[in-house]
Amino acid sequence: MGGGFGGLAAANELRENLSQDTRITIVDKKDWFMMDLVKLWIIGGSREFETSKRPLKAVTKKGIEFINENVTKIDLQNKIVRTSYRRLHYDYLIIALGVELAPEQIPGLKENGLVLYDLNDVPKIRDAIRSMKSGKIVMAITGLPYKCPPAPYEAALLIRSVLEETGSSNSIQMEFYSPTPITLPAGGPQVSEDILQILKSKNIEFYGNHKTTAVEPNKLKFESGEASFDLLITVPPHKAPLVAVDCDLAKPGKFIEVDRTCKTKHENVYAIGDVNQIMVTDKIAVPKAGIFAEGEGIAVARNIVSKIKKEAEAATFDGKGGCYLETGKKNAGYIRVDMYADPTPVTELKSPSADYFAEKEKFEKERLEKWL
Ligand SMILES: Cc1cc2nc3c(=O)[nH]c(=O)nc-3n(C[C@H](O)[C@H](O)[C@H](O)COP(=O)(O)OP(=O)(O)OC[C@H]3O[C@@H](n4cnc5c(N)ncnc54)[C@H](O)[C@@H]3O)c2cc1C
Repeated sequence: MGGGFGGLAAANELRENLSQDTRITIVDKKDWFMMDLVKLWIIGGSREFETSKRPLKAVTKKGIEFINENVTKIDLQNKIVRTSYRRLHYDYLIIALGVELAPEQIPGLKENGLVLYDLNDVPKIRDAIRSMKSGKIVMAITGLPYKCPPAPYEAALLIRSVLEETGSSNSIQMEFYSPTPITLPAGGPQVSEDILQILKSKNIEFYGNHKTTAVEPNKLKFESGEASFDLLITVPPHKAPLVAVDCDLAKPGKFIEVDRTCKTKHENVYAIGDVNQIMVTDKIAVPKAGIFAEGEGIAVARNIVSKIKKEAEAATFDGKGGCYLETGKKNAGYIRVDMYADPTPVTELKSPSADYFAEKEKFEKERLEKWL
């Protein structure tokens, strides 16, 4: 369930390793796939949604069925998934439904600002920053955890770079608020400090320990204090899709808690990607990122193949990966991550360069070619 990053990676891995006797079906309420990272390129002006999305039905060319319907119920007892129009029986179920954005959890957030991760608001952000001549842009992370921890900082840097192009940069102040004490807790103190310095070099003031409680016209309110803005761009709180809560896999207000096997407590039912929460230490969870959804999807698929072939399950999600940190003007840094390094997770920011930006473009291209 879910034809996003994790679902596509898992379905392709299964198809490559199983005969056509095994039916593999992707169910998604959308009929297209576009990597979320393209939203930043739309804001930056180098891409458009219409020419960046790919039809999900392309998976049918390789013998993966595609059903473009909304999953309305997961019936774990009877091993049935219900959609708006049908009931699907499964032997193995991979839940890869991602997260839902929940701006409604912060009063006034949707009404008084633009939502960075909302595809409908992305072109509005692109247009708003281009027409702005002076004033203050405020960006705020308003809920934890959120997907792709570096993405809001990339957005801030891209916006600064657009303002430099339009000639308004010197007359536009930028402030960034986060509930976390440092920029990127998932990346650790050094990576956070590196990001802070990059933000500073672009005149973006970072304010940690600011938990947003409400938004009013031109005013962001925190547990303590407030900030004024002319343009507000937020990362809203995230929540698990309702179907995952209704079937009791995710507790209300939480995600589906699994370990690195991604197995739920129901036999042959797995939760991968953003919809899950995998704790690595008692404080650190696997970040919500496409690269990890992909890694989990491949490991789960390999183990399902082994089970079907009656072999030992040998695949493990290794927690290795990384995210690019775009800094504007076709440059990007790279945050290398090894979640299961001994004794604690390791992260490192490689300095921004044109080469890492080229790698980021390749990251998208290679997966689209492989999956669709
Ligand atoms: C701006 C931005 C930039 C990012 N940049 C990066 C990056 O550079 N690198 C990186 O690794 N990650 C990046 N990410 C994070 C990445 O996009 C997500 O972590 C990734 O998409 C998670 O994959 P997933 O399969 O768990 O969920 P998704 O890719 O969100 O897929 C979930 C799918 O389930 C479908 N679905 C949901 N509910 C239902 C339902 N009830 N019925 C049917 N279908 C349903 C949805 O339509 C969707 O297609 C970025 C995110 C953002 C917002």
